[in-house]
Amino acid sequence: RVMNFSAGPAALPQAVLERARDELLDFRGSGMSVMEMSHRGKPFMAVAEKAEQDLRTLMDIPDNYTVLFLQGGATGQFAAIPMNLANGRGMDYIDTGAWSGKAIKEAQKYGPVNIVASSQASGYDSIPDRASWNLDPNAAYVHYTPNETIGGVEFPEIPDVGDVPLVADMSSTILSRPIDVSKFGVIYAGAQKNIGPAGLTVVIVRNDLLERDKGNVPAVLDWALQAKNDSMYNTPPTFGWYLAGLVFEWLLEQGGLESMGKTNQRKAAKLYQYIDNSAFYRNPVEPTARSWMNVPFILADDSLDGTFLNEADAAGLSSLKGHRSVGGMRASIYNAVPESSVDALIDFMADFENRHA
Ligand code: PLP
Repeated sequence: RVMNFSAGPAALPQAVLERARDELLDFRGSGMSVMEMSHRGKPFMAVAEKAEQDLRTLMDIPDNYTVLFLQGGATGQFAAIPMNLANGRGMDYIDTGAWSGKAIKEAQKYGPVNIVASSQASGYDSIPDRASWNLDPNAAYVHYTPNETIGGVEFPEIPDVGDVPLVADMSSTILSRPIDVSKFGVIYAGAQKNIGPAGLTVVIVRNDLLERDKGNVPAVLDWALQAKNDSMYNTPPTFGWYLAGLVFEWLLEQGGLESMGKTNQRKAAKLYQYIDNSAFYRNPVEPTARSWMNVPFILADDSLDGTFLNEADAAGLSSLKGHRSVGGMRASIYNAVPESSVDALIDFMADFENRHA
C-alpha cells in the first residue's frame, strides 16, 4: 500500500482495514456481513452502542451531550444547524476559509448571518484577532471552523464566545488531540478524515439545545427526532458506523487522544520546520495558525509541480496535489498517517530539492 496523504476520504489505519477484511463475510459468527444486517437487530445494536461508548471515552464527552451518527455529511449539517438552532434568529459566523464560507452560504438561506470576523482580506492565511470580533450576544449561536482543510489554517485554541452556544465544524480535526467538549454547544464532523469512511456524519449536541423552538425541519436533519430514535429514525449508515467503531477501538489502543495529540504535533512540527528551513518550499500560513492535519506548501518554481507529483507518486507518496482552488501541494497527515510516512515525505522533498533547486 502507498503512503496516502489524501485530504479526504483519507487514509484509514492498516490494522482497522485488516480487521474489517477478516470480518467482512462472516461478522463475528453471524454468517453474514455487518453490511447485510438489520440495524435494529441485537448484533448491530451492540456495534452501535460500543462505538458511541468508545467515542465518549476517547473525547471525554459529558453526560449532558447526545451523540448522533447520521448521513448527509458536514454539508448536510451546514443546513441542519440553522434549522435546529436559529428558527429565523440571527446567527454569528467566523469566516476563515473555504469551508466556513460554504457553511455561511448555506446558513444564509435560513436567516440573517452576521460575519463576526473574517481573514479574507489577507487570503485566509491566519485567524482574525479575537479582540476585533463583532459578536452579537443575542445570536442563536456562533459557528466556526476549527480547522480549514483547504487552507491549512487551524485555531490554536477554542475561542471564548461568552454564553452563546459555540458550534464547530470539526470535520478535519476531530480526534486529532484532546478537546474540552463542555466548551461547545455542537460539534459535528464528516467521518472521512479521522473517523472512518465517507457517508457517516457525527454530531455531538448539548442536550438543552435539542429543546429549542424550531420550524419545519426535515426528519433526517432533526437532531431531537434522531436523538429520540438513537440515530435510527431512518436506516443509519451501518457500515460506516461499524468501521468508525473499529477506528475508535484502534485509537484507544494507541493510548487515546493525549497520545495521538503528541504524535500529531510532532509530525506537523517536523514538516513545517523542514519547509521553513528551505528556500525551495513555502507554507503561506501564519505560524500560530498552522494546521496539524493539513499542510499546504508551494514550490518556489511552480513549473515543477507536475514533476514533483509524478516523482512523489513513483516513490509511493500519494495524493499530495493541493486543492484545485489553491493549487500547489497539500500533505494531509491525519491520525492514520504514521510518523514514518511524514519522515519519508521530508526525505523525498529534500532529495527533490537537491536535484531541482
Ligand atoms: N467541512 C470541512 C472542514 C471539510 O474538510 C469538509 C470536506 O470534506 C466538509 C466540511 C464537507 O464535508 P462533507 O463532504 O462530508 O459534506
